[in-house]
Formats: sequence, structure tokens, C-alpha cells
Amino acid sequence: MTTVDFLVIGGGVAGLSAAARLTRHGRVVVIEAEEALGYHSSGRSVSFSHYGIGDAAVRGLTAYSRAFYEQQPEGFCPTPLCRVMPSLYLGTEEMLPSLEALYQGMAVFTDAIEWVSDAEMKALCPALKTGPGGAVRGILDTSGLKLDSDALLQSFARALRAADGELLQGRRVASIQRRGQDWHVRSETGESWTAPVLVNAAGAWVDKIAAMAGVAPIGLEPKRRTIIVVDPPAGTDVRDWPFVHTAASDFYMLPEAGQILASPVDEVPDDPRDAQPEEYDIAFAADRLQHYTTLSVSRIAHRWAGLRSFVADRVPTAGFAPDAPGFFWLAGQGGYGLQTAPAMAEIVELLATGGDWPQGLTDLGVLPETVRPERLFAQPKHSAAVRTG
Ligand SMILES: Cc1cc2nc3c(=O)[nH]c(=O)nc-3n(C[C@H](O)[C@H](O)[C@H](O)COP(=O)(O)OP(=O)(O)OC[C@H]3O[C@@H](n4cnc5c(N)ncnc54)[C@H](O)[C@@H]3O)c2cc1C
Repeated sequence: MTTVDFLVIGGGVAGLSAAARLTRHGRVVVIEAEEALGYHSSGRSVSFSHYGIGDAAVRGLTAYSRAFYEQQPEGFCPTPLCRVMPSLYLGTEEMLPSLEALYQGMAVFTDAIEWVSDAEMKALCPALKTGPGGAVRGILDTSGLKLDSDALLQSFARALRAADGELLQGRRVASIQRRGQDWHVRSETGESWTAPVLVNAAGAWVDKIAAMAGVAPIGLEPKRRTIIVVDPPAGTDVRDWPFVHTAASDFYMLPEAGQILASPVDEVPDDPRDAQPEEYDIAFAADRLQHYTTLSVSRIAHRWAGLRSFVADRVPTAGFAPDAPGFFWLAGQGGYGLQTAPAMAEIVELLATGGDWPQGLTDLGVLPETVRPERLFAQPKHSAAVRTG
């Protein structure tokens, strides 16, 4: 039995980033079921940071996190964590009201956005169908960031170990018990750990972890998203294309290593599991790519799916469970777990150890009650949330 100050279940971006911060306050162990780092959502993301997703709280968390990516802490990672990639939100005639609402929402957080015409969109991404029947107006955000998720995960793991923390891979938590003031956690392999604070950062599995611990569920809903990768037409250099997203949230694409990643922005309810792409969603992704661009998909080079998990209001959650002392929720990062990770990790540190709420977060409209789990228990869990990202 190993005794530490903080046990973190889940070694995705949420668990690792929070664990690295918690090392300032005691001994930390991260227990991760898989052998490979980033095997689930954190390794299946398209790793973009932008203001075109989520509500004001998500945008606030994104804004607060940017400094970490742009000026990473000294010695954190030997390579840059991000590079600028402009993002373009396009509207067909029918999408113009949504595009206008998107502009208003983004403008609160960035002044790097401007309206662009169909001709300007065509110049930025020649494959787009523009003009009547296609994209007629767009928003160009020159502050989009393409993140390096692999470097990020490796660097958080390195920071954890450098501060005497441990990342234990290939250990699936099988049982959790409250004994006295502590949580006792046992893996399938029979190892056990105990700590007064247990951070539940198990991604799509957080409600399963809660059930093991006898804690009320948070009502997490994992939703599957599909990505396809296609080659551009011979001789077409896509490296400078922007991240393109429709205002209707039914398609996005971005360049990656000379190829094109595309998604139908699907959100298919799923179970916590090793998500796999379904044939229908792959075909739908290809259809959307051909609908919004002049590209024709003759071969799909690669495809994958991953889970984006949401609570009812679609805002990431951090805080102690109201019904279980020492049980800390870090859940529901949805489709923005990478771009909000630095802010959420700082929030975990201060809520778990009693630190002061940063003025910077308050100025961005993010308050403790914005993220604390209490808000989810005070309202019907599956209320119809507006889909914003
Ligand atoms: C296709 C796709 C595109 C995305 N694009 C973006 C994007 O552009 N920008 C962005 O910011 N976000 C994006 N996201 C969302 C982002 O990937 C997630 O929000 C983020 O990865 C969630 O991190 P996590 O640590 O909570 O989950 P995970 O990475 O899934 O980590 C949870 C970990 O818990 C472990 N675990 C579960 N049960 C147990 C157990 N019993 N014992 C031990 N360990 C356990 C799992 O093995 C897993 O490794 C995207 C997601 C997908 C799927």
C-alpha cells in the first residue's frame, strides 16, 4: 500500500496537467489504465485552440490558457507547444445569423477577428465553394493556435516526474473505498494506494469511477467524433490553408503534415470505450468535405474516432464532490480539453488546496461557481443544453 497526498485517476491531458500542478503541495501519483500515453481522447484530438467553440465560460478558460501555450514555462518542453494557424468560420446564406452570433461571442475575447468576403475566403483556401450556394461570408481569426498534443502530454509527464510524482501506466483502477479520512484505490493488478484527495480525471469513465467510490454521478455524456484524413490533389500545397469551420457546426477541416483532416462535427452518443469510427460517419465526413469544397474524395488515407465528454451545461467541471469529502471531480472537458487544460489545472490546484481564485479568471468571467460540480446537482442533469461546441 503506497500512501500519497493526491491520487489522480486518468493520465490524459486533464489528469496530467492537474497532477503536475499538485506536486507543489505534496506527493502525487497518477494511475493510468493504458500503457500508451494519450491512448484515448487526448491522443485523438485535432489539437486546436480557438474561440469559435463553446460558450463564454469555455472561451474564458481558453483565453486564460493561451499564455501557457505561447510562453511556456521555462524548461517545460524543448519544442514549441503551438504554432499560429488562422481559423476561418464560413457561412452560407442560411448560416449568416449563426455567423453573426459567433462573431459577437468571439469578439468579447479577441480583437484578431475580421469579416471576410467570399473572394477573400477563396484566396485563403482555394478549394472552398464560395459565392451563391456556397460560402458567402466568413470570419477570419488570425489568433488560432495548432497545439502539439504529444509534446504537451510528454512534458506534463516529465514535469510530474521531475517533482517526485509518479505516472503509473497500465494500471486500471478496479475498486475504490473510503476508509476514515482516506480513499483506498486498488488496481486490477492488485496494487493499492491511499490518499486523502482523489482526483477523478478518468475522461469518459468519470461516472464509472464515481460509481466505484459510491459517489453520485455527474451525468457525463460521452459523444463520438470522427476524423478522416485525405490527400490533397497532386501538386496542391495545403500547408498554409486555415482551419475551416462552418457556422452551422456541421463540418471542419484543417491541414496536417501535407494532408487534410476533416470531420462532420458529429456528436454520436456512445459508451466509455475504445471508440472506433463507424462506416456511416466516415462516409458522412467525406460527403461534407465534398459538399463544402471542390475536393473529390477517392481514397481515405486514415480515419479515427474519439470521445468528447460533456456535462449538462457543456462547461468543464472541477471541484470537490458535494457528497464525498476528498473526492475531486475533473470532468467534462468536451471538445476543448486541450485548449483549456492550463486554466483547468490551475483551478484544480487552488480548489483542491485552498488557494485564491485568480483575478485573471474573474476578469474573463470564469468564477468558482462556473466550474464547481454543485451547479450540476442543482438543476435537472439532462436539461436541453444549447449546442455551442
Ligand atoms: C476527434 C476529436 C477532436 C478534438 N479536438 C480538440 C481540439 O481541437 N482542441 C481541444 O482542446 N480539444 C479537442 N478535443 C477534446 C479533447 O481531446 C478532450 O477534451 C481531452 O482530451 C479530454 O482529456 P481527458 O484527460 O479528460 O480524457 P482522456 O484523454 O480520455 O484521459 C482519461 C484517461 O483516464 C483513463 N482511465 C479511465 N478509466 C480508468 C481506470 N479505471 N483506471 C485508470 N485509468 C483510467 C483512460 O485510460 C484515459 O487515458 C477533441 C477530441 C476528439 C475526440
